[in-house]
Amino acid sequence: MNYRPAPSRYDKMTYRRCGKSGLKLPALSLGLWHNFGHVDVLENSRKLLQLAFDAGITHFDLANNYGPPPGSAEENFGKILREDFSGFRDQMVISTKAGYYMWEGPYGEWGSKKYLVSSLDQSLQRMGLDYVDIFYHHRPDPDTPLEETMAALDHIVRQGKALYVGISNYQADDAAKAISILRDLGTPCLIHQPKYSMFERWVEGGLLDVLGNEGVGCIPFSPLAQGMLTDKYLHGVPEDSRAAKSHGFLQKSAITEETLSKIKQLNELAAIRGQSLAQMALSWLLKDDRITSVLIGASKTTQLEDSLKCLDNLSFSNEELSKIEGILT
Ligand code: NDP
Repeated sequence: MNYRPAPSRYDKMTYRRCGKSGLKLPALSLGLWHNFGHVDVLENSRKLLQLAFDAGITHFDLANNYGPPPGSAEENFGKILREDFSGFRDQMVISTKAGYYMWEGPYGEWGSKKYLVSSLDQSLQRMGLDYVDIFYHHRPDPDTPLEETMAALDHIVRQGKALYVGISNYQADDAAKAISILRDLGTPCLIHQPKYSMFERWVEGGLLDVLGNEGVGCIPFSPLAQGMLTDKYLHGVPEDSRAAKSHGFLQKSAITEETLSKIKQLNELAAIRGQSLAQMALSWLLKDDRITSVLIGASKTTQLEDSLKCLDNLSFSNEELSKIEGILT
């Protein structure tokens, strides 16, 4: 173990309170959905985690199925934790989730208590941890009573296997119900993790109001629309990009002429603001104080360095905001 965290790591990052809880999260958090599996280069994953921590990113987001293969991101993260971050667990917030398909048979996905409790046990084993800081139900289950899923989250906290719980991909009405059930159980919902970016704005139609009113935090995922809200696709699909990788979740077909025209205009506006498009897309989310943290991904340390600079300019003039609306609508 040669890694020593930078002594200056808390100087530049800002930390925001997660809803009405006692927990603060960094304005940017790092997600391990892509780039941390067994298909990826472990030394690159290690460098990304070290750079993030050196920059004050204390929060790392995983899920049972991240890889590929599923589970391998948790295994690699656990290995790097043991090798490089021992002694720093109390300075880290580690999240994982269950909800999507993980193993065969009737107990390997969705929202039963049977699945959630077993899945978290497996995640803890893969990461070599006694507990996670945040455990999420990853997606709503149309067939399991919400009361059972929320009771499972409450149970997991009482078992000491998670400190806080959250929900992800829940629409506003279901989120409100889940928040109320959890409150009655005595385990408040800490945070909601929805997809939110300049290109994906469904949360503005009610969810953000629910979270703001209830004092629940919000951590948008895929804030760069998986890389589309950067300049990388302006001149074709680079070979090492997510859209080009067979295991990447971004389909080339998503990068249409219409989308490229918007990206080009946004890129020009970002340049006038003195930002990269990635930086502007992140700042644009962070301008709303109901957003606790923005959950970014990165395949290279240079991307992470670029994205971190969004923190230098989080304010927008009304003119800039209306120009952005004009481009997006
Ligand atoms: P982003 O929208 O931030 O996309 C990240 C990708 O964008 C990188 O892998 C890289 O792509 C590219 N990129 C990042 N920074 C830059 C930059 N500065 N310049 C150019 N390109 C850049 O987020 P993700 O889609 O990765 O999602 C983030 C996290 O959110 C996940 O890791 C996961 O933790 C969480 N998540 C949660 C979900 C849920 O259901 N709850 C679903 C999906 C994600 P490239 O590989 O092409 O270089």
